[in-house]
Amino acid sequence: MKSISIFGFTGSIGTQALNILEDSEDFVFDFFVCNKNIDIAAPIIKKFSPKYVFIDDKGAREKINRSEFSSTSFIPDYDGLLKLVKENPSDIYLSAISGFSKVELTLLAAQSGKRLLLANKESLVIMGTRLMQIIKESDTDLIPIDSEHYSAYLSLKELDQAEISKLILTASGGPFESVPLENLKNKNVTEALNHPNWEMGSKISIDSATLVNKCFEVIEAHHLFNLSGEQLDVVIHPQSIIHSFVEFKDGSYEAQMSEPDMGFPLSYGFYKQRVAFRKNKTADKILHGLNLTIKEFPQDRSFLLDITKDIIQNGGNRGLVFAAINNYAVEKFLNEEIRFIDIYNLIRSNYEKIEKKDLFELEELNENYIEIQEHIRN
Ligand code: NDP
Ligand code: MG
Repeated sequence: MKSISIFGFTGSIGTQALNILEDSEDFVFDFFVCNKNIDIAAPIIKKFSPKYVFIDDKGAREKINRSEFSSTSFIPDYDGLLKLVKENPSDIYLSAISGFSKVELTLLAAQSGKRLLLANKESLVIMGTRLMQIIKESDTDLIPIDSEHYSAYLSLKELDQAEISKLILTASGGPFESVPLENLKNKNVTEALNHPNWEMGSKISIDSATLVNKCFEVIEAHHLFNLSGEQLDVVIHPQSIIHSFVEFKDGSYEAQMSEPDMGFPLSYGFYKQRVAFRKNKTADKILHGLNLTIKEFPQDRSFLLDITKDIIQNGGNRGLVFAAINNYAVEKFLNEEIRFIDIYNLIRSNYEKIEKKDLFELEELNENYIEIQEHIRN
């Protein structure tokens, strides 16, 4: 029996993982971490009886009726959580908290020498070099939980790096696929959240609509697979059936296909083999009316790819700068304080202006994050 900890158990990734695990007798549960969504958390805690739960938001933490959950301990503070996680390693960690928050938990999982299912992409974008170094030194088994990176992982895991020319990630294009930049000005929050192929948390849904998510994914791929900016490319593929292409030195390609469902990487991550996880799902679209299109990344958004290349080339704080500006902008957009187009405007007007810094450790990163936020706000 393997033990699992889920950081972000109430979110889109967390709940999809739990759907896969709910009928299994193969696992026990250690640490479940969320922010404040106790209406979702309570029935999950009841059903899965994790040993420990940490709820970050103080109000929500005090509101949950602990006496209902006799086999679960509720951890009162974050430092206490970090200590307990360090002292009680799990066999498998799912890192699925959104954004920059609680990155220490991802680092502890990376240091564990066990298995890390990494969904949180911000950790790779802002400190990929350090994170990958820790994972290598600790011999932690890393499984990427992102459809593109999981498919690339499958294609690349038994390959000699010398055989690969390129990795090409696909992007669905999100809800505004084929809409030119000039017509995106006033797209509202509901329109931007309405992703055609995936149901995801609100932050990543907006990032998909702007295509910033794909930039993050190129940076992730650079760190995960040790590929240079020149070896990474993006194409638009609206159906989200092909998740990545590997181009080999001989000019042939390998494409990984599946319906868009995060259950593929998650179930593989838990079992380390392909298992029948798709309960109640009928015949695949794959063999019925397969109609796949591939298009170029939109020219009018090429400035995003220029920034991505700059981040890969220069490292240091460049990923943090990009992610921090975007974070700020997406939050403002979700609060209806700025227009959709202003997300791009904020990125373009701030990225170059923010001073380049070499940083490596989390403390340096946290300090620089505060400086960057101050710069953006002024
Ligand atoms: P959601 O917004 O749906 O869920 C986020 C989770 O993180 C929730 O459990 C939330 O708790 C928790 N959380 C947020 N802030 C804190 C905090 N301060 N302390 C503790 N827990 C916190 O996001 P997704 O599941 O969509 O995404 C999670 C990560 O996975 C992101 O980094 C995303 O980029 C990545 N990812 C997601 C994909 C998807 O298909 N959804 C695909 C590929 C990657 P609460 O519910 O209580 O607020
Ligand atoms: Mg993805």
